[in-house]
Amino acid sequence: MDRLSSHKATKEVVQKHNFKFSKSLGQNFLIDDNVIDRILSGARLSEGDKIIEVGPGIGTLTREMGKVADQVIAIEIDKTLIPILEETLSDLDNVEVINQDILKVGVEELVKEKLSGGPVKLVANLPYYITTPIVMKFLEENIPVTDIVVMVQKEVADRMNAGPGTKDYGALSVAVQYYCDTEIVAKAPRHMFVPQPNVDSTVIGLHVREERKYPVDSEEIFFKTVKASFGQRRKTLLNALGTLGFLTKEQIKEALLNANIDEKRRGETLTIEEFATLSNVINSMVPSK
Ligand code: SAM
Repeated sequence: MDRLSSHKATKEVVQKHNFKFSKSLGQNFLIDDNVIDRILSGARLSEGDKIIEVGPGIGTLTREMGKVADQVIAIEIDKTLIPILEETLSDLDNVEVINQDILKVGVEELVKEKLSGGPVKLVANLPYYITTPIVMKFLEENIPVTDIVVMVQKEVADRMNAGPGTKDYGALSVAVQYYCDTEIVAKAPRHMFVPQPNVDSTVIGLHVREERKYPVDSEEIFFKTVKASFGQRRKTLLNALGTLGFLTKEQIKEALLNANIDEKRRGETLTIEEFATLSNVINSMVPSK
């Protein structure tokens, strides 16, 4: 079987199996060869790779990855797609489909049991209603992931990729860039999907750094500081950090002074390095438990 990434091939598969698209599961299938190739090159896919795909759909991207990589595990929630995938992936014995909700999968164990402990790459055209939980799951849980190359809604990619002082910069930018170098891999306007969604998409590459670039003493305090700083965008840091709840205004003033950050600045102007410095100062002031 050849590629599935044309409108005609996708339509044939869908009609043959009388498949009904589910809007609530974010089922918009990619029908553009060029974007598939960009995803593969963005993931620097090579023959030794162990890939996890979330939401294979009818297997369009899965097939192309299976032809190159060592192993592909595709996790698909919709059981009506399973017989379709059995057919479209039948000639690839290095591809396994698991019928489960990705948010309920213990990925760390899965990697140990089925992918020789990794390392793995997450490569997928994600269901948009759970993009952030999926990406954060792979970054925060103890999963040996080196690269995340995923199709997401354009606005989400812009936020993940944004730098300080821009309108898109926020807690998601800091969370992702704390772990990864980011790269816009490809643009995918809405007409490249069937059925056509009402948003445009972007493929973003998140390349996980081997070493932490921003050493923080407590990740918990770091992320709490980031959350409080962006929680009320119009407020100065002096006011916004009040929502941390365990420091007095005087202590916040002192923390900002010690971190060499003007108390009138707003969270959206801070670099990740400044957030790291500030959170380390705050951490040293946390009342002992
Ligand atoms: N990979 C295919 C493609 O590029 O054409 C389909 C991508 S489509 C945007 C998202 C896929 O994710 C659908 O197949 C959908 O059924 C699946 N999905 C939705 N929620 C899921 C979940 N919680 N766990 C696993 N798969 C999910």
